[in-house]
Amino acid sequence: MSHLLVTNLHKQFAGKPPTTAIDQLSFEIEEGEFVVLLGPSGCGKTTTLRCLAGLEKADAGTITLGGRTWFDSARRVALPPEKRNIGMVFQSYALWPHMTVRRNIGYPLRARRKKGQDAARWVEEAAALVGCQNLLDRYPAQLSGGQQQRVSLARSLVSRPDLILFDEPLSNLDAKLREDVRAQLHELHRRLRFTAVFVTHDQSEALALAERVAVMREGRFEQIGTPHEVFEHPATEYVADFIGLSVRLEATRTDGITRLAGVAADGRLPAPVRHGEFVLRARPDDLRIGPTAPALPTMTTVPVSIVDKVFGGRTIDVYVRLGEQRVHARIPVDDTYGWVRGLRAGDEVVLGFRPENVR
Ligand code: ADP
Ligand code: MG
Repeated sequence: MSHLLVTNLHKQFAGKPPTTAIDQLSFEIEEGEFVVLLGPSGCGKTTTLRCLAGLEKADAGTITLGGRTWFDSARRVALPPEKRNIGMVFQSYALWPHMTVRRNIGYPLRARRKKGQDAARWVEEAAALVGCQNLLDRYPAQLSGGQQQRVSLARSLVSRPDLILFDEPLSNLDAKLREDVRAQLHELHRRLRFTAVFVTHDQSEALALAERVAVMREGRFEQIGTPHEVFEHPATEYVADFIGLSVRLEATRTDGITRLAGVAADGRLPAPVRHGEFVLRARPDDLRIGPTAPALPTMTTVPVSIVDKVFGGRTIDVYVRLGEQRVHARIPVDDTYGWVRGLRAGDEVVLGFRPENVR
């Protein structure tokens, strides 16, 4: 039996015109599972979390957890947030500035009237889990952003909740810290196996943390699957674009020849039709450039011209013109770097890709 079961959840906001924030959403989550909702700003991620938490009331649908009904519009059941044993972690750490770390972490326990020795021990355990046991007597203003987010993580864990909701919790951290806290969260979940719904617009974060990813678009799920499934077999162009297959090539196939943006390709390419038009998708990292087709012997190639190049440390971004299209290739900085660095706008080169990397 699934742990969290959501059926036909629907939420509209009044306005002219009204906004459908969640559109007949149904999904199930197993106990201990880590599910990520991935989608762009405005697609309904926060509204979904707020409905799960009971902070927002859906117009229709049901939410049950462990067989207990939290929300059922038809039966007029709507448990208030404090009756749902949930932990929440937000982008803004949402710590009380006038409370010490100890009191902040213990807040959910006091809200549930859990006091005394046990409560004190649970606070210390939660603090130890995220490595902030030495910060217990400080105030939030005395902590760095990363420390504040760890405190807020400890607060979400302290009441041993049935479900933890994360709303873009890493977005306010700088890149290095974001990876540290992400790794720590991954490790915590591996040890504690709490049930989690984690919301983000960052595909690498989603792929790193999720056991299942739901790619969200305009209040609906476009695809649900393991990170591997979604990454390797995106069901739609929208999903493909969102998980990094950002290179879009207009293709036509006639008389056994595939043309990309009107330019004949040399080599194999996947073609869903024997005759006609289709769209191919690829990742910039999977593309290569070479002086001539024989220089990329294992690849399918098309002639292109250089538009621009941007140095990025370990990689160099090369923009090329293919017919009327501009294509972005990300080339690793290795022994071919000297050649790539010497390129000038207008130079004629070839763009290469392996057929198996093209969708
Ligand atoms: P996300 O978290 O994915 O960025 P949200 O759930 O915040 O998306 O918003 C989904 C849609 O609902 C957006 O179009 C947003 O403008 C709208 N919306 C969210 N909250 C409200 C509200 N309180 N009143 C009116 N519209 C809202
Ligand atoms: Mg949001």
